[in-house]
Amino acid sequence: MTIIREFEKKCAVCGKTSKQPVLMSTNAWGYPDLDFRPSEMQRSTMSTWLVECPHCGYVASNLENELEASQDILKSDEYLTCEGNEFKSRLSERFYKHYLISRAENDFGSEFLSLLHCAWTCDDADDELAVEMRKMAIKSMDKIVVESDEEKNNLQIIKADLLRRSLQFDRVISEFKDFILEDKLKNDIITFQIELAMKKDSECHTVEEVTTRVVSKPH
Ligand SMILES: [Zn+2]
Repeated sequence: MTIIREFEKKCAVCGKTSKQPVLMSTNAWGYPDLDFRPSEMQRSTMSTWLVECPHCGYVASNLENELEASQDILKSDEYLTCEGNEFKSRLSERFYKHYLISRAENDFGSEFLSLLHCAWTCDDADDELAVEMRKMAIKSMDKIVVESDEEKNNLQIIKADLLRRSLQFDRVISEFKDFILEDKLKNDIITFQIELAMKKDSECHTVEEVTTRVVSKPH
């Protein structure tokens, strides 16, 4: 079960304290979505992945972590307005602000994940911004320096979903039609993505659908 507790945290930027939620435990019951968005109950814990200092607006996974970029960013227009993106939820704003901080810190992995998570929070609430965040995440992904083939392949699997869900169906087909992996499940996910792209299906699908469906590979 999910257990969230509150703790006093001292902000590394302004030095003031505030009560912040800390995730003590959780678990995922079902299969993740095709971009690895976790199922419940883990999905509901996203509100604890990033916290925001109520005094200075610093957003971090832990407010005690140092801000590597200049503190000026927290007072900048782009930060305060999320570069003009009018998100429907505070949670989306928080992920976007974390993206801006990561971008300023040249932390490409964190930049990409912040955009991906921001897209998840936009799903169901704002389709247009969800598409925009996915397009930005694809561009950000190209900057990540991968350390292993497995990491590279996992990113490619997420990329297929990001492309399809941002309506770039032709790119899914052209970039992945010859993409073959040794791992059967991952290969099946890619085949599924191509089939969905051919049907111009931009909806959310889960890994469970891949594992339970009868594969009819076109020859
Ligand atoms: Zn602060």
